[in-house]
Amino acid sequence: MNDSLKRMPVLFVGHGNPMNAIELNAFHQSWVKLGQTLPRPKAVLCISAHWETDGVAVTAAPRPETIHDFYGFPRALFEVQYPAPGDPVLAQRTAELLTGYDVRLDAERGLDHGAWSVLAPMYPEADVPVVQLSLDSRKPGQFHYTLGKALAPLRDEGVLILASGNIVHNLRLLNYRDPTPPAWAQEADEEIRRRIEAHDHDALVDYATLGTAARQGIPTNEHYLPLLYALALQADEDALHFFNTAVWGSISMTSVVLGSR
Ligand code: ZN
Repeated sequence: MNDSLKRMPVLFVGHGNPMNAIELNAFHQSWVKLGQTLPRPKAVLCISAHWETDGVAVTAAPRPETIHDFYGFPRALFEVQYPAPGDPVLAQRTAELLTGYDVRLDAERGLDHGAWSVLAPMYPEADVPVVQLSLDSRKPGQFHYTLGKALAPLRDEGVLILASGNIVHNLRLLNYRDPTPPAWAQEADEEIRRRIEAHDHDALVDYATLGTAARQGIPTNEHYLPLLYALALQADEDALHFFNTAVWGSISMTSVVLGSR
């Protein structure tokens, strides 16, 4: 096994506001640093909060377009293009690993901002191929956790798995003018972080049984579910490192690297 194929780490990144893609704030800078310090991947497989489907799909376009899936942001954000190539071979490999899930290869779908807002700072040259795996968000936590485990061989094939969401994400209760986190959001972030640290995956998979604050932080599941893919891929020997442990209003930016850094 050559050095480039040593086991890749797994990332869960809280992506938060799409403006983090172009604002040179601390979140953006942390993503730049990840790209510079993590082992360089052959490709990225991204599970983003922003691609929900009925059934499971994988992007298979050789040149995925940049999707601007948001409204009301400055023109500069709509002008961002992230021309990373796709990787149809990785798409096929992912579908093979998920035999039994009836995975659909989607040759049309591009990259959503859950993927490119993080990847553009990480790999600004857009020279690492990117494939996205969709979220069948109607399914329970256990479905996502079990599916995530089946992706484990990719870590030994030079693929960086990037799960992109937010462990606490309640837009209805977000006050854009005052990012002071409410107590419940802090509490939710702390509970989830504590359980990640304690490897209490059962409780995190069955997230409806978490405390009141955490349930308030997960009013819909699409930003939370990517976390379960990262946890499913945690190997016994993996180091666990939190970063961006900040709560911005009712959104937690807490992120985690599993594995070597
Ligand atoms: Zn989002």
